[in-house]
Amino acid sequence: CGIVGYVGYRDALGVVVDALRRMEYRGYDSAGVAILDGNGALAVERKAGRLANLEAELGEAGTERFAGSTGMGHTRWATHGAPTDRNAHPHRDISGKLAVVHNGIIENFAPLRRELEEAGVELLSDTDTEVAVHLVSRAYADGPTAGEFTASVHAVLQRLEGAFTLVFTHADHPGTIVAARRSTPLVVGVGEGEMFIASDVTAFIEHTREAVELGQNQAVVITAEGYRVTDFAGNTEGVHSRPFTIDW
Ligand code: GLU
Repeated sequence: CGIVGYVGYRDALGVVVDALRRMEYRGYDSAGVAILDGNGALAVERKAGRLANLEAELGEAGTERFAGSTGMGHTRWATHGAPTDRNAHPHRDISGKLAVVHNGIIENFAPLRRELEEAGVELLSDTDTEVAVHLVSRAYADGPTAGEFTASVHAVLQRLEGAFTLVFTHADHPGTIVAARRSTPLVVGVGEGEMFIASDVTAFIEHTREAVELGQNQAVVITAEGYRVTDFAGNTEGVHSRPFTIDW
C-alpha cells in the first residue's frame, strides 16, 4: 500500500527502504525493491510479511548486487493473489530487464491475461498487476513503440481499466522512471540532482519539501534532472499538475 521511486546520486536501496519504513503505517502484507546498477542489471528482492523480512533477505544477498542510484520499492496490500513471495512486487517481464510495482486494481486484467497467454507468455504470479509488465515488454519489443520505454508504457496505460499507481523501471534506461496514476495517489518530490515519486510525501520529506501532485489520468517521467507530466498518450497540452511546498 505504498510506492516509492528514486533517481539521483544517493544509494537508491537506502533511500527506498527508508521510504518504505516511513510508509509502513499505511498497512501492507509484503514488500519488495528493484535497483538498477546503471550497467544494464536489474536486481529485485521481494518478500511476504514485514519489511524486516525483506531487509533480512537483502542482508543475505549482500549490498553489492543492490548498488545503484535508481530504484523503486513497494509495500503490497494483496487484492488478487495470496500474500506470498511469488505474488509480491516488483514483477518482471521475461527478459528480466523491465519491472513494475503497482498499488490498486487493474479491473480488466482477466482479458489481458488471456491475450498474453494466447501469445505464449507464461505468467508467474496470481496478481492483476503482472499483465502490465508483460504488455509493456511486448510494446517495447515490437510495433510502433519498439525500443521506446516511455512510449511503450503510455501505449499500455491506455488499455488499463481500474485504479492504479504504476511505476516502471527498465535496466537499459537506468536514469529514468516512468509512472502513472488513476484514482490512487502519486506525488513527485523535486530535489536538486535527484527526483522522487511516491504515494505519499512522507516517503521523501527528509530529502525535499518541494512536491508536485499528479492529477487524474496523468503520467510522469522522472530523471535526476527533472520531471515531465503528461496524459496517458504522452501529451503535455492541457495537462496541469499541482506544485506545492510541504510546510509541516
Ligand atoms: N492488486 C495488486 C495486487 O494484489 C496491488 C495491491 C496493492 O495495492 O498493494 O498485487
